[in-house]
Parts: sequence; C-alpha cells; structure tokens
Amino acid sequence: MTGLYIHIPFCVHKCSYCDFVSYVCDQTVREEYVQSLICEIRMAGEIYRDRAINTVFLGGGTPCILLPAQTKRIMCALRDSFNICVDAEITVECNPGAVDSEKLNAYSECGINRLSFGLQSASDRLLKAISRIHTFSDFIQSIEHAKRAGFSNINADIMYGLPSQSISELAETISAVCEMRLAHVSAYSLIVEENTPLYSSLMCGSIALPDEDTEYEMHTLCQKKLESAGYRRYEISNYAKQDMECRHNLIYWNSDEYIGLGANAHSAVWERGVWTRYENFSSIGDYVSAVREGRLPIVRREHLWGYDAQAEYVMLGLRKTDGFLLSDFEDRFSEKFDTVFGERLERVEKSLYVKNERFYLTDRGLDLQNMILCELL
Ligand code: SF4
Repeated sequence: MTGLYIHIPFCVHKCSYCDFVSYVCDQTVREEYVQSLICEIRMAGEIYRDRAINTVFLGGGTPCILLPAQTKRIMCALRDSFNICVDAEITVECNPGAVDSEKLNAYSECGINRLSFGLQSASDRLLKAISRIHTFSDFIQSIEHAKRAGFSNINADIMYGLPSQSISELAETISAVCEMRLAHVSAYSLIVEENTPLYSSLMCGSIALPDEDTEYEMHTLCQKKLESAGYRRYEISNYAKQDMECRHNLIYWNSDEYIGLGANAHSAVWERGVWTRYENFSSIGDYVSAVREGRLPIVRREHLWGYDAQAEYVMLGLRKTDGFLLSDFEDRFSEKFDTVFGERLERVEKSLYVKNERFYLTDRGLDLQNMILCELL
C-alpha cells in the first residue's frame, strides 16, 4: 500500500491550541502555492510513477479554503503524474461551515470520496473557548450538504480535555455525532503545545484543564458510547463502522509507504531497499523558492536501519487495537520479533498484551501504551 499526503498550509484564522504548520494568507499567496505544489507533484511523479497509489489525503491547515478550481487542478495533476488506483480512498479535510454545495460537488466530480470534518465539540461555548470559528449548526449544515452531494464516507474529529469542558458536554457531543450516523469518528484529547495562545492562558491561570481523573473518565466515555453506537475502536483514538476504517491513516500505523507533498509534508519510502524519511521545508517562501529552482523542496532526509526501523514499526503498530502480525515483522526485517524484543517483553505485565500470531495491547495496555513502549524499546 502507498499513500499520498498533500499539505495545504492555510487557515482563515489560527485556533488558540494549534501548532500545525498553517498560515493565514491571501488568495495571491495561495495561488502561488498551488502552482508550486503542482510543479512538485510533477517532479515527484517522475520518481514514484511505479507505485500504485491506494490513498490520497488532502490535509492541513484547511484544504477546503482553496477554490474548487484549485482543488480540481491539484487532483488533475495527481492523476496525470501518479498511478492512482481506481478504488483509491481520497479524503479532504474540511472545516464545518467552510464547504457549500458547489465545493462539495466539485470534490465529488474530481473523485474525492471521503470527507473529514474538524467538529471538536457540539458546544458553541467550548468552540469559542478554543477559538474555533464554526458553530455546531455549521457542522450540521455541512453534513447535510455533504450527504446531499453523495458523500457517505464521512469522519468527525472530536476533542476532550478542553478547558472547563464537563463530562456531560462531551457526552452530548458524542451523542450528537452518533445520531448523524457517520462512518468514522476520531476522538483526541487536547494536547497543549508550547508557543500557542492556549499554553500562555494556561500558564497565567486564566483557564484550567480537566484534571487527570476527569480526562480518563472522558476517554472511557468516548470508548463506551462510540462502541455501543456500533463503532469499533481500531486505533487508540479512532473508531469506525464496519469496513470504514481510514485506509490512509492505516498506512502510517502499518509502516507502509507514504509520499508527502507540499510545505512541511513528510514522506516515508523504500529507497534502494532502505527505509527512508523525508521532510519538506515548512516555510512557504522556502518551499516555493526550491520548487521554482526546479529542486524537490526537501529539507531533511533520514535513513532508518536495523533496530531503529524495528522500534518504529512496533511503536506505530501497537497504536492499532489489532497490533501487527509477527510474520509481517519477520518478513520485513528478516529477524524474529522475539529475538529482538523477547527479553524486554518479559518486563511487561502479561495482562497488558496478547501475543499469538499477532502482537497487540489489551484495552488496559492501550491506556498504558507509553509505559509499555518505555519497557519494550
Ligand atoms: S483550523 Fe485546524 S489547522 Fe487551522 S488553525 Fe485551526 S486547528 Fe489549526
């Protein structure tokens, strides 16, 4: 499996908790970026033409900020340059309230077949507290537009551990999402990153986050409510209806190849038999200049060998509730899992994992994943 990730680093406004690479820019800068992105797509297509592309993900930032014609040009360039499978999963991230019927119809026309909405909460009070610019009714309207445009594979991101969020506010959000019968829900706990306005507010005491016990209760509530609504937890933070798992994200957790294009995009590919990671320039200026000079805009390249590659495979694979096949580990690294990790695994309490033909963590193990990885790796 190979995935393509396309980064669109623009937002209408910067949310207070966000440390993603996204900028507030005008239409001139966005158009210049789209032109450079298309050049990079063509250059990368020359290198990776032999790969069958199973998934495409337009992420950000806010990819739906682009004009429908710009998205269509990007999709055309991708199809011209890469071998995209007919049944490829093609996702675009959307902000509630930022997509109308015209945009959604354009997405459908260029083969986009999955939408991922950043709802975060059904409480307008909380959305305001984290400086999101949409309301819950924007989300409802966007989902209605999306369904009318023929989309059935839709994800909603929700967040818990928000400043002053109550358990009942989270329960209402989960119930509201379940009622909409979406294919997929991602439930993330808020991570407060340094150098964000939210971090400063927390440091000066003007906001407070739920305590550790409440946050754990919230995490448990997400799992309980989503599972009883027919979603299967298949990754630490991701839940899907049957066969509706996000195929693109599974590529990351399965340590399959992905090619990242655009500012700050990351790639991981087999290069002459060596697992290799790339990272693009994160500044739009550096990115555009490199592409204009006819160079791939790569700022860092790293080869992963032996134990480093094995540890990364285990770390990512254990995020999935199904873990990974021990035979897959052996095929990939020509070494048995037990030979490398067997001794360290003895330090981990047996009730936290299962090891038969697969190696995976139990529910309690997933809650203690960081501690287990410290013992194991
Ligand atoms: S919309 Fe998403 S990417 Fe943009 S600022 Fe908000 S959290 Fe960050």
